[in-house]
Amino acid sequence: MVGVRVREERCTGCGRCVEVCPAGVFGLEGEGGRKVARVARAEECCACRACELKCPERAIEVEGYQLLKVDPPPDYPPEEGRYLRGNDYSPVAVCAILDTYDFRIPPELLKLVEVGVEAGAALAGTLQTENIGIEKLVANVVANPNLRYLVLCWRESQGHLPAHSLLQLVERGVASDKRRTILGSKAPAPYLPNLPLRSIERFRRQITIVNLISEEEPKRGMDPENVKKAVRACIQEKPVEFMGYTLWDPGAWPEPPICEKLSMRVKEPWRPELTREEADALERIRRAAERIGKSRRSE
Ligand code: SF4
Ligand code: SF4
Repeated sequence: MVGVRVREERCTGCGRCVEVCPAGVFGLEGEGGRKVARVARAEECCACRACELKCPERAIEVEGYQLLKVDPPPDYPPEEGRYLRGNDYSPVAVCAILDTYDFRIPPELLKLVEVGVEAGAALAGTLQTENIGIEKLVANVVANPNLRYLVLCWRESQGHLPAHSLLQLVERGVASDKRRTILGSKAPAPYLPNLPLRSIERFRRQITIVNLISEEEPKRGMDPENVKKAVRACIQEKPVEFMGYTLWDPGAWPEPPICEKLSMRVKEPWRPELTREEADALERIRRAAERIGKSRRSE
């Protein structure tokens, strides 16, 4: 039977475990200013180990589980893109930020992608935009429950801020507006309207980001050795300390994959969404402009 233990002396009462646990195992208790997490419904635990991975104080231990690996569905990965596919049973994917035009991709950046797969990642590719790029990435990750880590590398793209947006997505989620705006993102168009909400919420629980990108140490995220070490740490059975993270393979997320192609209902999420009246008015203007153009050409 699975057991869950909170080391109260370490717990700061931040509530992260309450937020990420899909089974409602934890509650926060305490008097006065000090609150601590308590195991309220241990019998509900499905051994996803999100609480262990996401507790910033390493105050939680889950015991008595069996390491789970699953076969990804036949149509995995559902979205095409600029990535390489490696070992489907690996718990880690590598995401290198693309901060330039497609035709100018430096070979050093592509090297990081290759190194990621060679070191044992399930997927390794590039991410360019804070909207459709993230939508595709999320769709591919939640289609494979074995994936539990995303190693972010290269450097931030100052135009789109995709790394910052991805971090905010995992940390804070999306607003309840139609565009599914990533909360806390400072990017120009951080909207995910084509992703089902259940995929977004699954991604936030299933994935822990290992962020190698650092403004203070710009070379850190660009060093292939760091990518290799991060991937290797994620696939170990026993916890490994790496750049402030404690990493190990926690096994597959214990719920079925969500393997769906994006609806692409909104192809240009950065455009403001129009009301019915505004869309009709725009259509009338377009037709009028077409008529004027035709009559001028025939003069
Ligand atoms: S995530 Fe960790 S530190 Fe935060 S409340 Fe839960 S046990 Fe305590
Ligand atoms: S392992 Fe998963 S289900 Fe169990 S307590 Fe932790 S977060 Fe909840």
